Amino acid sequence: MYEGAIQDLIDELGRLPGVGPKSAQRIAFHVLSADPADVNRLAGALRKVKDLVRFCTSCYNVAESEQCRICRDPRRSDEVVCVVEEPKDVVAIERTGEFRGRYHVLGGAINPLEGIGPDNLRIRELMARLGTGTVRELILATDPNTEGEATATYLALMVKPMGIAVTRLASGLPVGGDLEYADEITLGRAFEGRRAV
Ligand SMILES: [Zn+2]
Repeated sequence: MYEGAIQDLIDELGRLPGVGPKSAQRIAFHVLSADPADVNRLAGALRKVKDLVRFCTSCYNVAESEQCRICRDPRRSDEVVCVVEEPKDVVAIERTGEFRGRYHVLGGAINPLEGIGPDNLRIRELMARLGTGTVRELILATDPNTEGEATATYLALMVKPMGIAVTRLASGLPVGGDLEYADEITLGRAFEGRRAV
């Protein structure tokens, strides 16, 4: 235990995901010995992300204006919407170059053990989007694990009666895994081979 500011920094860093007490201490001492200009840039980036970044009002991806870059792109199709759990999944799918439609970011997956139900996700917002009648296909690209599958099943039941084609990414994705860790080729193939559910 240290005193004052250095301990405060260690405590704050230790609250970040994936940062254990040892890493927090290592980063804090790195900051202490770093060039002041580098530390200012880091502090500025932390402040800016809270000031500037918000959620797209259409798809809930991260954005720096009302709508995200993908929703603003007039060359993309409004008829196909790909549902993902988190903004990092949008990045993973964009890397494949296979998809030219729009996205909808749920903000997580159904997880009863953690008390996350459909009402805690942006499902109501998705239904409102689908209610306009423009969307012809909904691609369910939630993670290939228990929570992702439960979410996909729930959405398929809700959306199919609306007369919209519902598809799920093909197998080949590592089961129990996280979409963002799939390599581009596997994810690209899973996209091409998506099947009706
Ligand atoms: Zn958007």
